[in-house]
Amino acid sequence: MAVDHDDTVPDGDGTRCVHGGRREATTGAPLHPGPVLSAPFHLGLPGEPTPTDFYGRADNPTWRALEEAIGELDGGECVLFASGMAAIAAVLRIGATRGGLVLPSDGYYQARALAHSELGPLGVAIGEAPTVGERPSLEGAGLVLAETPSNPGLDVCDIAAVAGAAHAAGALLAVDNTTATPLGQSPLALGADFTVASDTKALSGHGDVLLGHVSTRDAELAAALRTARTRGGAAPGPFETWLAHRGLGTLDLRLARQAANAAALVDVLLAHPAATDVRWPGHPADPAHALASRQMRRWNGVLRFTLPSAEAVGRFLAASRLTGSATSFGGLQSTADRRERWGDAVAPGLLRYSAGCEDTADLVADVRGALDAVLAG
Ligand code: PLP
Repeated sequence: MAVDHDDTVPDGDGTRCVHGGRREATTGAPLHPGPVLSAPFHLGLPGEPTPTDFYGRADNPTWRALEEAIGELDGGECVLFASGMAAIAAVLRIGATRGGLVLPSDGYYQARALAHSELGPLGVAIGEAPTVGERPSLEGAGLVLAETPSNPGLDVCDIAAVAGAAHAAGALLAVDNTTATPLGQSPLALGADFTVASDTKALSGHGDVLLGHVSTRDAELAAALRTARTRGGAAPGPFETWLAHRGLGTLDLRLARQAANAAALVDVLLAHPAATDVRWPGHPADPAHALASRQMRRWNGVLRFTLPSAEAVGRFLAASRLTGSATSFGGLQSTADRRERWGDAVAPGLLRYSAGCEDTADLVADVRGALDAVLAG
């Protein structure tokens, strides 16, 4: 029986998350196909064309399903990688073939470490630029990497303006979209050449996989990414890919709860004497709010605040029943990460806090109690 449906109405975030990359209904086929775990595939006899799937490092049907779903959300062609860092490494290597690299001075530290310790010694010029503030000359740059909202500072840069400056200098722009997720922000629509992300975080959402991806609208760059993956060997595991696809189905729901929890926590933090330096771009009083409201579609659960010392962080974590002490973010459970321990140039008491999917009232009561415990000493 034909079902009436109006193709002119664009699907919403929830529908796109649930249906993205799902195969057409075929009688007798599984509604939820499992991961394809084979490394080799049947090649047939001499003279037959090489099939799309011939070896699991080059392609895999489970990858293609998730790539279709993420690509649709990003508005480009998605190439999966084994982790966020594998995705960033591929982008930096492609950029380095075109000139120098400019990285965020206040973004995810391993991207900078990779550029300085592995690409710099090969003769690639490495520069740094803060997410907010004066940006250096881009002369000779082959690729600019921006991270917005940045991690852990939660600063926001103007993607369209940075894309304009990069392109004027002949460089490509890659945006690390990990904190925003494809639902929160569309860097490709704002002029970026690549959007790159750690899908280990909110996209897969359950803290049980490592995965990353890069999307682009440029067919040549997409082909270069696929080649970089095949040659560099940063191939995602099909089972991890399948788990991430399952997680993506609830991204819209999880983000909504996480953002609601973050908004409620920010109100508590701003009013509490134990916390200073509270940042969350979704709050109207945040310095990044005006710009973030223009270029982001929706908020997420990642915020930051500073407690008086590392010892105060210890008291906070010991007193909180719901906050896990863990790095990473975007998971079901609320977590806090003291970023100085990883070498970020921040105060010893700075916490990047990832609001999870707990009930808002429970989380607010728990965090308020933990902040009180900080003051109680
Ligand atoms: N980009 C950002 C903003 C991150 O926070 C991280 C990890 O924390 C990465 C990239 C690297 O991702 P992965 O851990 O999946 O390699």
